[in-house]
Amino acid sequence: MLQIIKSFTLYELFKGLILTFKYIFKSKVTINYPHEKGPLSPRFRGEHALRRYPNGEERCIACKLCEAVCPAQAITIEAEPRTDGSRRTTRYDIDMSKCIYCGLCEESCPVDAIVEGPNYEFATETREELMYNKEKLLSNGDMWEQEIAQNLQLDSKYR
Ligand code: SF4
Ligand code: SF4
Repeated sequence: MLQIIKSFTLYELFKGLILTFKYIFKSKVTINYPHEKGPLSPRFRGEHALRRYPNGEERCIACKLCEAVCPAQAITIEAEPRTDGSRRTTRYDIDMSKCIYCGLCEESCPVDAIVEGPNYEFATETREELMYNKEKLLSNGDMWEQEIAQNLQLDSKYR
């Protein structure tokens, strides 16, 4: 009997509408991505970048610690000494399709050269585009240096 009364009075429908109206006056929890973006932790591990010193010199000293520590074996480095005796990479590749974004490369780097920046919008249409070379990584570093330096500064007391 109760069920029949509920059916004729559209009880369930009105109950649903009351819930809808209740949420009309609450603040929105959704954001209009990609025009709006949520906050990111300074520790967020996004797209990789190779950094430079303010004078434009590459930070990486080709110690290969990142290559050795990478559990996915995604990093390939080749190096040789320059004429001035300094050691720099001649090749620095990351296979981003292998990377598991563990952050160990960043943690192991003694000069904060390889970092995982704040960029997470780097989806590609082909697998080949995820084979990053030194040029691509350095250009990422140039593009995101301000944000990366700020995040490293914010996280410095915990490192
Ligand atoms: S984040 Fe981890 S898996 Fe990716 S390149 Fe660095 S060490 Fe390798
Ligand atoms: S990125 Fe850092 S850890 Fe990797 S080879 Fe260069 S200096 Fe060494």
